[in-house]
Amino acid sequence: MTEALTLTPQALQAFRLDVRAFVQAELPTATREKVRLGLEISKAEMLAWQARLAARGWLVPHWPQAWQGQGWSPAQRAVFQEEMVAHHAPEMGGITFEMLGPILIRYGSPAQQQYFLPRILDLQDWWCQGYSEPNAGSDLASLKTRAERQRVDGDDVYVVNGSKIWTSYAQYANWIFCLVRTDVEARAQHGISFLLIDMQSPGVTVRPIIGIHGWHLFNEVFFEDVQVPVAQRVGEENAGWAIAKSLLEFERLNLARVAENRRRLAKVRAIGESVQEAGVPLRERPWFAERFHTLEVRFETLAATVLRFRQRAEAGHRLGPETGMLKLVGSTLIQDIENLAVDALGPDTLAYDRDAHFTPAAPQLGRSEYAPSASARRFVTRGYTIAGGSSEIQHEVLAKQVLGL
Ligand SMILES: Cc1cc2nc3c(=O)[nH]c(=O)nc-3n(C[C@H](O)[C@H](O)[C@H](O)COP(=O)(O)OP(=O)(O)OC[C@H]3O[C@@H](n4cnc5c(N)ncnc54)[C@H](O)[C@@H]3O)c2cc1C
Repeated sequence: MTEALTLTPQALQAFRLDVRAFVQAELPTATREKVRLGLEISKAEMLAWQARLAARGWLVPHWPQAWQGQGWSPAQRAVFQEEMVAHHAPEMGGITFEMLGPILIRYGSPAQQQYFLPRILDLQDWWCQGYSEPNAGSDLASLKTRAERQRVDGDDVYVVNGSKIWTSYAQYANWIFCLVRTDVEARAQHGISFLLIDMQSPGVTVRPIIGIHGWHLFNEVFFEDVQVPVAQRVGEENAGWAIAKSLLEFERLNLARVAENRRRLAKVRAIGESVQEAGVPLRERPWFAERFHTLEVRFETLAATVLRFRQRAEAGHRLGPETGMLKLVGSTLIQDIENLAVDALGPDTLAYDRDAHFTPAAPQLGRSEYAPSASARRFVTRGYTIAGGSSEIQHEVLAKQVLGL
């Protein structure tokens, strides 16, 4: 990694304005509107936005400069993210850019890096994450998808059988990175390998799971005698667990979702100003004002804590398991913000309109523009305290590893 330069406050402000000007000029209006209203972005819209970022050199600013990274300081990365979110840019595909890319940069063979990283940078590949299984979520090490090494037609391959579940956006992906069991005799964590699997391989099937929110986010992925070249294993055989765990380091500072919380809070503020109850704007109704201001205070506390962590990282300190609290607090806060949005909009949020997932609903007199997506949004964020380590697991980590209980 290249040493990041810490900018002066003036230079950081100039950088902020530069990012702001870019997003204001380049983000297509239709995409901005959809993000502002909480609608789902199509793959084509996402790729179009990513292509603009790539053209500006900002697709993967956090990667090393050898791979088109920008060498930004943590503060710059935070400012970049804040401006993107404040101007309703879609959230980036974290699985490809935040997970798989950094894993290949750290653990991939030169051949894997040369093949896969340029394809990510060219937006040819969309990756999904195949970790969870029907009986392996929090207890991920108990996963059972089996990869047996065989020689087929003179080639060394793994033959993969099993299934993954909750695979986000597998319907968009052409590659999946999977944790698979390569040794059934070894202790759970020691018999797992990290495989890169082409979704077009014979024997791979994707089945959608439509959530209560109506969104097609989740999928099941089935593997039936899927042949995967041994050269597509990352790291040593049976060393996949350590690679998977190291992902945590890549995402630590993002876990609090500060920028996303800020955007959602701004949305609830807009609701408070535009929606009336008993003839006055909601922001003047005590029940709303009290809940909204409490959320604001919680948000500012979170943002200040994250800033403190960021400064520690910037000063060269390694962050430990205490960052688990950022995920815990940030994901709960988002849910409370979305709950207030639904409570504020009331029965108007109940009518379910499937078309409103991808297209802004036609304006209806007396119905807030935020109403059609409010329930779906609330249910989507319900998953935030489960994905990436549930709140119960975070509490356990904090109790054992931080407080020594
Ligand atoms: C929005 C979202 C996106 C996701 N995307 C992906 C993806 O792309 N790829 C992927 O592989 N997976 C994905 N997942 C799956 C996610 O990783 C799992 O849901 C998560 O690990 C929890 O596993 P589980 O659902 O099997 O629940 P379980 O592990 O069965 O847990 C059920 C309940 O028991 C509690 N519990 C479990 N163990 C303990 C314990 N030791 N102590 C206290 N309480 C405990 C949990 O907190 C939870 O409340 C996604 C999930 C969500 C919600």
